[in-house]
Formats: sequence, structure tokens, C-alpha cells
Amino acid sequence: MSMEVSKDIQCPFCGQSFEIIMDTSAGNQRFTTDCEVCCRPFEVFVECVSGEILNLEIREN
Ligand SMILES: [Zn+2]
Repeated sequence: MSMEVSKDIQCPFCGQSFEIIMDTSAGNQRFTTDCEVCCRPFEVFVECVSGEILNLEIREN
């Protein structure tokens, strides 16, 4: 069984939404990603258990 879950997130700067793939087997995660459209970086915090995202929060850097 795959522990990868896709989730739509929204850029806090330009509002563009796009999909990320999370490996939920890695537990809670925090990473920085760049918006595909405006290329500005933001931080993503993810709370997850195996196979499920419980909470996802986006913060501007
Ligand atoms: Zn953007």
C-alpha cells in the first residue's frame, strides 16, 4: 500500500493552487517549496499519520 497522498495547496502570494505529493510514512513534515507560477518560496507544515493528512498549514516565509 502506498503511503503517498496528493493534496491541493494554494500559494499564499498569488493564489494559484497546485498539487503536492506527500509521503505520509515520514510523519510530520515541514518544508519549503516554490510556487510554480510566481516562484516565491513558502513554508508548508504537514501533520500526518500513515496514509492520511490530518492538517496542512502554509506560511509565508
Ligand atoms: Zn504564487
